[in-house]
Amino acid sequence: MTTPLAAIRARIAHAVAIARRPANDIALVAVSKTRGVEQIAPLIAEGQRVFGENRVQEADAKWPALQEAHPDLQLHLVGQLQSNKAEEAVRRFDYIHSLDRLSLLTALAKAMDKAGRQVPLFVQVNIGSEAQKGGCAIEALPTLLTEARAAALPVIGLMCVPPADLEAAPFFALLAKLADEHGLPSRSMGMSDDFETAIMLGATHVRVGSALFGERI
Ligand SMILES: *Cc1c(COP(=O)(O)O)cnc(C)c1O
Repeated sequence: MTTPLAAIRARIAHAVAIARRPANDIALVAVSKTRGVEQIAPLIAEGQRVFGENRVQEADAKWPALQEAHPDLQLHLVGQLQSNKAEEAVRRFDYIHSLDRLSLLTALAKAMDKAGRQVPLFVQVNIGSEAQKGGCAIEALPTLLTEARAAALPVIGLMCVPPADLEAAPFFALLAKLADEHGLPSRSMGMSDDFETAIMLGATHVRVGSALFGERI
């Protein structure tokens, strides 16, 4: 029987081959928000080790026992982060994809200092310049990156969620171009509906939820 995880892995491998990229260039982040431990455990049993959550509180409720049982798990925060949750986020997560403003930068620097723990960061970019959307404005990116470097924060890449109603590819291309311009090696882009396109355009981290776990209800 082909499991959803095996099917997604095969599709990633296929896209990687077409893109002529090394297979180990792509991390599959299994986005498990709203899913219970009973849905997560089978994926861990199948060998999946990289997971994403979008809320600190939900992760604090679901992950401690799993993380203790599987020290090699990698937990990624893919959702917006409030500055007053920075400390919890730095303790719980191994990667944070949603640095998007100076106030959060300051809070994360303080939290990492206090925890004695460096958590690699992606800067989330509001790639479609949407009014209601999270992420740093493209015009504000240079300043945010300069400040992050000044604070010695480990920024490794950029992340985006393209506008829902438009073709994603141009926005993935734009994110890759911005990452190139700033010398950032990692690109967190592509979800259930478009991860193959994102891989063609340079994604290093694809964030897949519903294609692995089923539609959210
Ligand atoms: C929920 C979520 C995903 C996964 O979306 P699917 O369409 O279910 O694959 C990816 N990234 C972020 C930021 C999310 O919130």
